[in-house]
Amino acid sequence: MKTNNLGYPRIGSNRELKKASELYWAGKISAEELLEVGKNIRATNWQLQAQSGIDLIPSNDFSFYDQVLDLTLTLGAIPKRYNEIAKSNSSLDLYFAMARGSQKDGQDVVAMEMTKWFDTNYHYIVPEFTKNQKFELFSTKIIDEFVESKKLGIKTKPVLIGPVSYLLLGKEKEEGFHRIDLIEKIVSVYFEILNALQKEGAEYIQIDEPFLALNLTDKERNAITYIYNEINKNFPSLKIILANYFDCFGENLETVLALPVDTLHLDLVRCSSQLDDILDSGKLASNVKLSLGVVDGRNIWKNDFKKSLSLIEKAVNALGENRILIAPSCSLIHCPCDLDLETNDKTLTPEIKQWLAFSKQKTNEIVLLRNLASGEITENDQIQYEENIVANENRKTSKLIHNDKVKSRVATISKGDDQRKSPFANRRKSQIDALNLPLFPTTTIGSFPQTTEVRSWRAKFKKGELSQQQYDNLLQKETEETIRFQEETGIDVLVHGEFERNDMVEYFGEQLDGFTFTKNGWVQSYGSRCVKPPVIYGDVSRPNPMTVRWAEFAQSLTPKWVKGMLTGPVTILQWSFVRNDQPRSETCTQIALAIRDEVVDLEKAGIKIIQIDEPAIREGLPLRKEEWADYLDWAIKAFRNAASGVKDDTQIHTHMCYSEFNDIIQNIADMDADVITIECSRSQMELLDVFADFKYPNEIGPGVYDIHSPRVPSRSEMVYLLEKAAAVVPADQLWVNPDCGLKTRHWEETKKALIEMVAAAQEMRVQV
Ligand code: GLN
Ligand code: ZN
Repeated sequence: MKTNNLGYPRIGSNRELKKASELYWAGKISAEELLEVGKNIRATNWQLQAQSGIDLIPSNDFSFYDQVLDLTLTLGAIPKRYNEIAKSNSSLDLYFAMARGSQKDGQDVVAMEMTKWFDTNYHYIVPEFTKNQKFELFSTKIIDEFVESKKLGIKTKPVLIGPVSYLLLGKEKEEGFHRIDLIEKIVSVYFEILNALQKEGAEYIQIDEPFLALNLTDKERNAITYIYNEINKNFPSLKIILANYFDCFGENLETVLALPVDTLHLDLVRCSSQLDDILDSGKLASNVKLSLGVVDGRNIWKNDFKKSLSLIEKAVNALGENRILIAPSCSLIHCPCDLDLETNDKTLTPEIKQWLAFSKQKTNEIVLLRNLASGEITENDQIQYEENIVANENRKTSKLIHNDKVKSRVATISKGDDQRKSPFANRRKSQIDALNLPLFPTTTIGSFPQTTEVRSWRAKFKKGELSQQQYDNLLQKETEETIRFQEETGIDVLVHGEFERNDMVEYFGEQLDGFTFTKNGWVQSYGSRCVKPPVIYGDVSRPNPMTVRWAEFAQSLTPKWVKGMLTGPVTILQWSFVRNDQPRSETCTQIALAIRDEVVDLEKAGIKIIQIDEPAIREGLPLRKEEWADYLDWAIKAFRNAASGVKDDTQIHTHMCYSEFNDIIQNIADMDADVITIECSRSQMELLDVFADFKYPNEIGPGVYDIHSPRVPSRSEMVYLLEKAAAVVPADQLWVNPDCGLKTRHWEETKKALIEMVAAAQEMRVQV
């Protein structure tokens, strides 16, 4: 029985890669220095896995930015706009120009598009294809890294994204073809790569085809059959491990079982039933092995050895030890590096820490599970096994986790709790009377610029260099100035500015029971950007109001309405590491009830307008369409539970960014927020069409300018967008606001932009 790892975090356990990349981009270190950092991380990772006892250690899982972009370079699929850069710069600079755009020496090219990697919070660079797309072996990274590992005495297993998934990850940049049609062109470059690796002595190659977890068309499935038969014909002695992850093979299973590959990798964390499906089908060829992904690559909990061993045992009984590999469910890049670096007992108590495993610990778990399953255990293995059983038992019964009050409250939610008292049409009348807002009311999405100064106060406060009183005073001053600015600008619905918040999820997590935080639990989000998701370990409740005093303070400064500002339950869930001992829906409902209490308290404090941000609703959608309905049902209900505790004349807003709403517009309408603000300006209001076609009944604030850029929009372009909006949505349903929060902007451009925005709204009022 072999152990098989699919990928190891490449950021370095102290985020060495992030730091070095940013220094390189700032011109502060040389390319050689950056390359050296990469080389050291690779060596460290390989050696660590070798020492742990991993048999199949991945290479080419390292990347200076993104593994999809690496493959784009490997295959020479470089968009035309980078031709000049390709000629006159190093390949490293070409690579970063594709990732981040480049503006120097008179060149000015935009970056390639970036989007989420399946249902993770990792973002990849989207390949661009043309009808006559050419492919050629351009970068030899995968081969070089294999050779590099060999030199260290470790013969690795190169990892490659499969041709079908690679094509599907990309986008057609011209009409008249489907990217899957390029499959025959791409195959020759894959052959060149496999050939070179074989010559260098590679034995195993891992080819990832995560699209096998999605609903595929016949054409796409045929491409899978074609490719893997071709590879087998041409490289009969290479052992191909075909990896699927994040969900079941579903209706692709028949196709997959007929493929002439050495090993199939299964994600048994996301889909444990597929082991039975495969064994029971009787269709697994007698020479094909199974790599059992039993250790969760997407979360941070210690493995449940009993459960994993029973799955392994079942597979071993059916196929024999030689046909079984033990693996994580997917690459470990979605996990932080090393739990041993969490040395702060206050943020992560020993009790909670004993339930956790990061990448390094998960690597050990994989080896231990193999040892246990094969019966070849040392004394130390036995101790670790017993520790695992104890930790899992403790977790089941821990008082830290289980809060009966929360559980019984969830159990007794009654039918009407997720419904506002009256239907929207009636609420609207009460709100018009109560709020007295003009046509095209103006507002912002919540945050105002988080200047270096504001951030430095927080840092000093955390270090104890500022007292609570001093910190609060500074924040109050900033809030007051922001209120005054909005008054002067003539904005109708004000916000307090969110200066007290580091991050829209962390801020709430810090105040909710059932959450904790790591010191070093970083995970790559894109390029050099890493995130440190909160850990939801227990039943969630709200011991105290979280935002009321800031909303109340801001409201006390002005006769205008101040909008209370909350993060919604689905977004809090989606951007955290979530407990795995109960369904996500259950955790989400608990968070929803905590937010509901906050909403009610805001209302009691005199706040008449409350925004509950849910930017992550869309990204939470499951990969397989047949699972959408279930998710949408509990997610939308959670939002409604959070929002429905208030009176008719209290106005609930929600906000969502970077979403397409086409296939979920009914669900968005079911959220029944009185007002929804969406990101719209970059699509020139096109995202609004689906609301118009649907005859969306509630009010909408389509963003009129892009907040990702420092550029100040002109009044006329915003009027143009608003006219476009008013052409499809009745004017009395429209709000005027930027695309999203302003926290990454500077004050200078923010002021100018909002003055123009208010003027644009005034112009619209005159028009109608
Ligand atoms: N209220 C948040 C802000 O303004 C919303 C952020 C978001 O949608 N991502 O920053
Ligand atoms: Zn937003």
